[in-house]
Amino acid sequence: MSGAHLLLVEDDAVARTAVAQNLAGHGYVVAETGDAAGALRSWDAARPDLIVLDLGLPDLDGLAVIRRVRRESATPILVLSARGREADKIEALEAGADDYVTKPYGIGELRARVAALLRRAGGAGVEPSGVLRNGSIALDTSRRVVAVGGRELDLTPREYELLKQMLAAPGRVLTRGRLLRAVWGTAYSDEGHYLHVYVSRLRRKLAAADPGGDARDLVSAEPGVGYRVREPPSD
Ligand code: CA
Repeated sequence: MSGAHLLLVEDDAVARTAVAQNLAGHGYVVAETGDAAGALRSWDAARPDLIVLDLGLPDLDGLAVIRRVRRESATPILVLSARGREADKIEALEAGADDYVTKPYGIGELRARVAALLRRAGGAGVEPSGVLRNGSIALDTSRRVVAVGGRELDLTPREYELLKQMLAAPGRVLTRGRLLRAVWGTAYSDEGHYLHVYVSRLRRKLAAADPGGDARDLVSAEPGVGYRVREPPSD
């Protein structure tokens, strides 16, 4: 989405300048700041279309920025996090960040994630009919029916809920805790083995319903974090 307004929050001035120049060179309008106070000022003043946010900032934690923005808006937030800080990424995603890249990252990867978030912000979501689609998979929220390639799929209530959570988050990363709370309830947020078993079972059912197709690739594991839902293939 050329011309989109991005807010880049990064305290490393050298990295920030390089990223800002690259993004500007690809048609984005980029505002830069090096701390959380500046990020919140810029947010209040300009309401960017997307925020690229380093979590480790000199004044406030980047999480404070995420929480503040989320109270007011669904504006996409892409987090930059340090390698090995899985807990920080998870906390950021659960606070409402949409995606992350891990430092050191390639600028091409960052741009691809930015573009994907802007595409989804521009329209993806539930169809007015209440049908969630991704490739050959269609879930009808009003009839609670799932079809793969037009054929109805037999799912348990938990499998249905799990699939619904995934289809509602195209291209996003879902943390294990978030899926467990949504499907099993808050008491289960540490029971990662439930999720692993159910995701495997769901993928087997999707594969069996769509032999030779790619329905089973709906989600991929994000090690240490949860699952990434693919973007719907364009046809
Ligand atoms: Ca930093």
